[in-house]
Amino acid sequence: MHDPGRVVIVGGGIGGLTLALALHRAGIASTVYEQHTLQADGSFQRRATGFTLWSYAIARLIDLGVNVERTGNPIETTEIRNQSGDLIAIMPVGDASRKLGAPSYEIRRGDLLAAILAELPEHTLKTGRACTAIREHADSVELEFEDGERTRADLVVGADGIRSIVREHVAGEIPLRYSGYSGASGVTRFTHRDLAPHTHVDVWGRGGKAGIADVGEEKIRWYLTWKGSEESQKSLDEILSRLEKWYSPVHAVVQTTPQTAIVQHAYYDIAPLQEWKRGNVVLLGDAAHATTPFAAMGANMAIEDAAELAALLCKASSTAEALKNFENSRKNRTEEIVKHGRRMSRLTQLHSPIAAWLRDQAFTHMPEQEMEKVALAMAAGE
Ligand SMILES: Cc1cc2nc3c(=O)[nH]c(=O)nc-3n(C[C@H](O)[C@H](O)[C@H](O)COP(=O)(O)OP(=O)(O)OC[C@H]3O[C@@H](n4cnc5c(N)ncnc54)[C@H](O)[C@@H]3O)c2cc1C
Repeated sequence: MHDPGRVVIVGGGIGGLTLALALHRAGIASTVYEQHTLQADGSFQRRATGFTLWSYAIARLIDLGVNVERTGNPIETTEIRNQSGDLIAIMPVGDASRKLGAPSYEIRRGDLLAAILAELPEHTLKTGRACTAIREHADSVELEFEDGERTRADLVVGADGIRSIVREHVAGEIPLRYSGYSGASGVTRFTHRDLAPHTHVDVWGRGGKAGIADVGEEKIRWYLTWKGSEESQKSLDEILSRLEKWYSPVHAVVQTTPQTAIVQHAYYDIAPLQEWKRGNVVLLGDAAHATTPFAAMGANMAIEDAAELAALLCKASSTAEALKNFENSRKNRTEEIVKHGRRMSRLTQLHSPIAAWLRDQAFTHMPEQEMEKVALAMAAGE
């Protein structure tokens, strides 16, 4: 097996920690530098958030020995509803996932990061360490941190998210593309008679969408989007008044969430990069292929990237060969996902009432077998 030498990972999010664990399982040590300090809930994102992980990504985490059962709830059903709450379609995600051999999950982000960390040797993760500069030398790569500390590595992996500093070193300055949508999200303790356990409800509105999902421990993760400028942050009152005529659990869950636990976002992606690597520096996850959340695939892709990169580093006869193979195997797939995110953004948030009505009619009359196929494709990541 090829030994990549000293591996440094910049960014302790889902991609960076999954890579550290996959390398550890293969007998390769690494150090992860994360800019934020660990919060009480195990997350670095400062406020609680969550995401959907489909069967194919959960299978990778289970293979790595992550205790996914402690990180969220398996999804049985995804309901698609219109703004007023009428049911448009049902996706049998549980059945589809069982066919693939691993459940799909609604995840509490902080708990997932904590579950991965629990499998890593102590001192793998160094928190409160923002990387500020990268320099390549003939025999190593040097990293500099905000506090002035420097370290050297044989291989550097940029898993530092959408605003990646490592990407700037690899590919130059890449502008973020604003999707035209902003939004808010939260995780809170909440129950409602209309919300079945193990269910994700996707509400396709006009000029925006919402989602509510059971993430276990009687907690609900929710998110909302609205069309507007990048700066269009809303006060809680503005959000609630916008939701007044929406499916009532959406209004109720937002109202229940403490204002300090609500995170506001502007949604971006990036155009495909020409290169994911430069010398012995490589990118993965959002740093390489940030997509809007509308395809619900970004975290899934980061996990897949991490598992694939570790496997290729083990198989190849040199780091250069592994990085080339990694870029070849992941570029097309992730570019398709970014495009899918853009299509889903348009479909699920149609502005025109007529277009939205036609979309809802089309889904309402879609045969059950078609929805089964959609569920299988989502759970398989196709
Ligand atoms: C509202 C919302 C909903 C989403 N829903 C889904 C979903 O349902 N399914 C899905 O698959 N994806 C979803 N996503 C996308 C998903 O969150 C991202 O794709 C995923 O987190 C990417 O993982 P990552 O490890 O590449 O980056 P991140 O999770 O962003 O992690 C990057 C880490 O690097 C650290 N970092 C950054 N710069 C530095 C530096 N200079 N030095 C040191 N550390 C640094 C950051 O602090 C962070 O911890 C959603 C995103 C949002 C905003």
